[in-house]
Amino acid sequence: MLRISAVSKAYPNGVRALQGIDLSIDRGLFGLLGPNGAGKSTLMRILATLQAPDAGQVTFDGLDVLARPQAHRRHLGYLPQDFGVYPGVSAVDLLDHLGLLKGLTNARERREQVDALLSLTNLHAHRKKAVSGFSGGMRQRFGIAQALLGNPKLLIVDEPTSGLDPEERQRFHNLLGEVGENVVVLLSTHIVEDVRQLCPRMAILSEGRVLCEGAPEALVASL
Ligand code: ADP
Ligand code: ADP
Repeated sequence: MLRISAVSKAYPNGVRALQGIDLSIDRGLFGLLGPNGAGKSTLMRILATLQAPDAGQVTFDGLDVLARPQAHRRHLGYLPQDFGVYPGVSAVDLLDHLGLLKGLTNARERREQVDALLSLTNLHAHRKKAVSGFSGGMRQRFGIAQALLGNPKLLIVDEPTSGLDPEERQRFHNLLGEVGENVVVLLSTHIVEDVRQLCPRMAILSEGRVLCEGAPEALVASL
């Protein structure tokens, strides 16, 4: 269970990106829907411990995330909106390298995990190709594989379907649905269809505040 209490963040330019966010998020997929500028990325960077809030508390399965960021990162997978890949490096080599960085030091176990993630994300046939040459949809699926290295218990995915065509989006939805059976997934998006298809629960974020929270059928109808 991820608990976010009274989290606020203002930037030095005076923008109040988050103004007292309270959310409790359980196993499965939780959607954070909001327009550009609502504060989604700021909240996700805070939950990924890449940025500190000005005030508030975050706990995950009882762990104080802000006080113990190192411990939190051990069970965290984070897929930022724009993630870089090394030009020319193949999917399998890049995953192997990132797995090593994540502390998967046993080579055989790492290879097994990389193999399983390539299969899960339907990229096994492309494993020897450079990720920098992947299509948008393939790249996002690779991003999920990368974020799942080390078997995180919490997966944070920031606007993963922006720019995907309908077929790629559907394929990505199927993947997230599968992943969400085992992990807490927090998905941010400005696309209503993403949350409607995927998330049993969601919140709508606007100007740094939670407008409402609940099941998509109820909330989306009220938009
Ligand atoms: P979203 O992900 O929903 O688009 P963001 O968290 O990126 O929202 O942004 C929330 C608000 O904070 C926006 O007004 C944005 O311009 C502002 N903002 C985001 N990052 C910074 C930053 N590093 N410095 C100043 N303002 C920022
Ligand atoms: P998103 O909507 O996904 O947050 P943005 O275009 O708002 O994307 O932000 C892209 C990057 O620029 C982020 O790292 C964000 O922190 C930064 N940023 C956004 N708004 C501002 C701003 N007003 N001043 C400085 N940096 C900003």
